[in-house]
Amino acid sequence: MQYFELFKTSFTDYARYVGNEILHPHWGNYFYWLIGISVFFFALELLFPWRKNQPKIRKDFWLDAFYMFFNFFLFSLVGYYAFSNVLVHLFNDFLGLFGLENIVAFEIQSWPVWAQLLTLFILRDFIHWNVHRLLHRVPWLWEFHKVHHSVEQMGFAAHLRFHWMETVVYRTIEYIPLAMIGFGIQEFLLVHLFTLSVGHFNHSNISVPLGPLKYIFNNPQMHIWHHAKKLPVKNGVNYGITLSIWDYIFGTHYIPKDGRDEPLGFENLEEFPQTLPRQLLYGFRRRK
Ligand SMILES: [Zn+2]
Ligand SMILES: [Zn+2]
Repeated sequence: MQYFELFKTSFTDYARYVGNEILHPHWGNYFYWLIGISVFFFALELLFPWRKNQPKIRKDFWLDAFYMFFNFFLFSLVGYYAFSNVLVHLFNDFLGLFGLENIVAFEIQSWPVWAQLLTLFILRDFIHWNVHRLLHRVPWLWEFHKVHHSVEQMGFAAHLRFHWMETVVYRTIEYIPLAMIGFGIQEFLLVHLFTLSVGHFNHSNISVPLGPLKYIFNNPQMHIWHHAKKLPVKNGVNYGITLSIWDYIFGTHYIPKDGRDEPLGFENLEEFPQTLPRQLLYGFRRRK
């Protein structure tokens, strides 16, 4: 009963939060940051396109725009936020059975804010790099991740085109390591906006020479190969999310040539559903 109450209040709290975000623009407002950052990269694509003959409003532009808002807000609204709150509560109650109050292994809350932000950012990006590799290696996870790889014409909005199950997988796997250093499910605006911007950038139809920084930050010229249809290895390359450095350290980087016109997708892409409802159901169907 207590969990049901928590679910209900979390649900209404989140609905109120999203309503407030839309009605009251302010500097800490995710809704308008998402719009602002998207408009910025769209403007760059229009002004300085890498693939000049790709349509300005590319294939699936509107579908991806919808995914963007769905994955950023609506999915949380329809219960993910409430559901995860209940799970966290259950998990803590479970720890309580053993007399544990939390699983914090070392407190970094006493560190200077910049050091906390940097630690959170690097640790989380490394966890995400590993989760992304899993999405490619574990067959049933790949079925969900295919939604992201079904993009045929690349552009900034493809960044947030992914199945909601990915949110569940990423959040579940990152929860325990982050809780161990004293981070709850709260996120820092700055880290979030930075990763959002680099994610949009990686998928943008623009070419920006980063110089030696390309060994640290992911970029469109590297990420396009992650989406390439034909690869020399089965499980993919360039798994980097925000940082490219993990691929260089672990030898999964691959940029054989300029990938500007490289065909994107995966084998038998033509059989993959084109509409949102069927894409969302795709990973749940029984595999032959
Ligand atoms: Zn991938
Ligand atoms: Zn991608």
